[in-house]
Amino acid sequence: MVNGFLRLLYPPKCAFCGKIVENERFAVCDDCLAALPFNLRACSVCGTPLDTVYGDLLCLSCRKKRRRFKKVYVPLIYKEIVRDGIIGMKFRGKKGRSVTFAAFIFLKLKEENAPRPDLITYVPMHFIRLGQRGYNQAYLMAKALGEMMNVPVVKTLRKIKHTSPQSKLNGRARQENLEGAIKPHQAENFSGKTVLLIDDVTTTGTSLNVCAKELKAAGAKEIYAATVAATPFTH
Ligand SMILES: [Zn+2]
Ligand SMILES: [Zn+2]
Repeated sequence: MVNGFLRLLYPPKCAFCGKIVENERFAVCDDCLAALPFNLRACSVCGTPLDTVYGDLLCLSCRKKRRRFKKVYVPLIYKEIVRDGIIGMKFRGKKGRSVTFAAFIFLKLKEENAPRPDLITYVPMHFIRLGQRGYNQAYLMAKALGEMMNVPVVKTLRKIKHTSPQSKLNGRARQENLEGAIKPHQAENFSGKTVLLIDDVTTTGTSLNVCAKELKAAGAKEIYAATVAATPFTH
């Protein structure tokens, strides 16, 4: 199924390893497709990959913390070729990969019968970082997904503080780093609506939770989220 869908897409380079693929409309090479770590046992709330095969599908964080989102849909585990592929999209200018990654999210939402959102939105980036990178990969993924689902993509949040990258911080510091850094943008556009929030990777769910909290406080009805990958549960 992933095959058939991706065949319709370009670019002709594999989104994970960058190798030129034979079929120029096929965005994942056969080797990568066979090696992809699909997120098959995940926390039913935040999407964190779990290593246990027993017990409830609920991670320790979601047992303890209040989550402002209903559920996070995550097709892949953030390791190996998935990590390489996403790093390429974020830091090496491989923007075209956002379309392939959005397709993985699209298929995951279908597979899990996710509720259809009224609108799609994305984790915002501060203008200084946007200026450095030239694009917000979460927006590019949201835009591609919006076209696949025929759902409007709306800017709902603004990043008003230039913060350290979340990946360099742990636990409580992640929460504090984002405290007051994200604010709603034109709440009348999403008030009363079911929102699907997009980001590239989730680690502890903190960024998604902060965004969901702001959206709900500004009147959104329900928040679902999706990221292409999540880091495995480690603590
Ligand atoms: Zn490949
Ligand atoms: Zn969880």
